[in-house]
Amino acid sequence: MNLILLGPPGAGKGTQAKILTKKFAIPQISTGDILRSAVKEQTAMGLKAKSYMDSGALVPDDVVVGIVKDRLAQPDCANGFVLDGFPRTVAQADALKQMLAGLGKLIEHVLSIEVDKEDLLGRITGRRTCRSCGRGYHVAFDPPNVAGKCDECGGELYQRDDDREDTMRNRLAVYEEQTAPLIAYYKQESLLRSIKGVGSIEEIQRSILNIIEGCSV
Ligand code: ADP
Ligand code: ADP
Ligand code: ZN
Repeated sequence: MNLILLGPPGAGKGTQAKILTKKFAIPQISTGDILRSAVKEQTAMGLKAKSYMDSGALVPDDVVVGIVKDRLAQPDCANGFVLDGFPRTVAQADALKQMLAGLGKLIEHVLSIEVDKEDLLGRITGRRTCRSCGRGYHVAFDPPNVAGKCDECGGELYQRDDDREDTMRNRLAVYEEQTAPLIAYYKQESLLRSIKGVGSIEEIQRSILNIIEGCSV
């Protein structure tokens, strides 16, 4: 099952992707997570990406396309994958189409999670992220069992620098300008499945499963 999760920052893509990964035993491919670990490891790619990420801008297309190309070629993607946070521009979507054609794969559903701006602000400012495994939490809506510690791996929870208010507003503007056009793009390809992203994490997961199971290809 080859899926794309589309939606603004804070819509719940990462949260839903992690649940899908467990349920269907397919990997989550989060370009944000991969870039954050490159920044942490101070690789050449991480050093290049950092300034873009810090300002809330998108990292150049060739960098993220290269990441996804390498990742999709790994054997664990044979039975499917969940793309989380990629593509984010029309150029990335075109590049993805090409690379999938080369691999003989097709996207089955583009799950577009829709959340109002006001809700997004509350979600992003309350988000806490595990330094070790990348799992997201929320101080009010999805708190860990032990404050400051990841339930899955015991890692330390922190607030991403780009989740602070000023950077976050820029990320939302970048989304509107560069990523929202993908909604029309995938509608035209008959792949778009819209999901109301308001409700509990479980309710949204149920809507996603209804789509996946209701019209499985
Ligand atoms: P994205 O990957 O789209 O940026 P996340 O999955 O990291 O979004 O979710 C953003 C924040 O909102 C996190 O703190 C997460 O715990 C919280 N969250 C996710 N889904 C919901 C939901 N349905 N209701 C309330 N909070 C949510
Ligand atoms: P969120 O979960 O809030 O949507 P991500 O973790 O996906 O944020 O992305 C964090 C940052 O990493 C982005 O603001 C951007 O700088 C960079 N990034 C991640 N994915 C991409 C992508 N597909 N194209 C360009 N930049 C990306
Ligand atoms: Zn963790």
